Parts: sequence; structure tokens; C-alpha cells
Amino acid sequence: MHLEEMKKEIESLVIEKGFYNKPEDIPKKLLFAFIELGEASDAWKKGESEEKIAEELIDTIFYILDASRLACPTVNMDDMFKKKLDKNRSRPYQYGEGHRVKFLNG
Ligand SMILES: [Mg+2]
Repeated sequence: MHLEEMKKEIESLVIEKGFYNKPEDIPKKLLFAFIELGEASDAWKKGESEEKIAEELIDTIFYILDASRLACPTVNMDDMFKKKLDKNRSRPYQYGEGHRVKFLNG
């Protein structure tokens, strides 16, 4: 299943379950994504199963895609994923990790 298909499935679930579904709900959805990341971290910290950790990570993806559906509805997320992957691939080795050099050199 691709990201755009996932967005449609999530939208259907949101409507079916009566969840927040307005542009003003975007900050809540992003906050919930962070909460789910915390749950994933907590599951890992407690030595829970890979299945449990994966479930929490998927919850995070759900909220991110749900937020994207309302925040940037005209953007095709599959195309954006490929575009961003290409952009990151074009960057130098260990880009954005200048702190490593800083720590090594004091
Ligand atoms: Mg969860």
C-alpha cells in the first residue's frame, strides 16, 4: 500500500470513528504523533515485543498521514517521499551531523 492509499484509508477510518477532521485539528494530530512516538520509545525501553513497538510506530505514521491529509491536501505524499529521498541522497556523507566533528575535535 502506498502513502496516498494509506491517506484514503485513514480518512475513511477518521470519518467512520468520528475523530477530529478539520484543519484546526492539525496541531492535535501532530501532538498525537509525538505521543505515539513516546509510546514506541517506552515499549522499546520496557523490552516489549517487536510487534508492540511496530504497532506504536504505525500509530505515529497514521497521525502524520492524517495531519498531511488536512495540512497539505494537494501534495501527493508518494511523490513527495521520492522527491525528499532524492534530495537527501544528493547531500554529502553524514550531512547535518556537524556535531560529530565538534565532539571529536573538542
Ligand atoms: Mg499507540
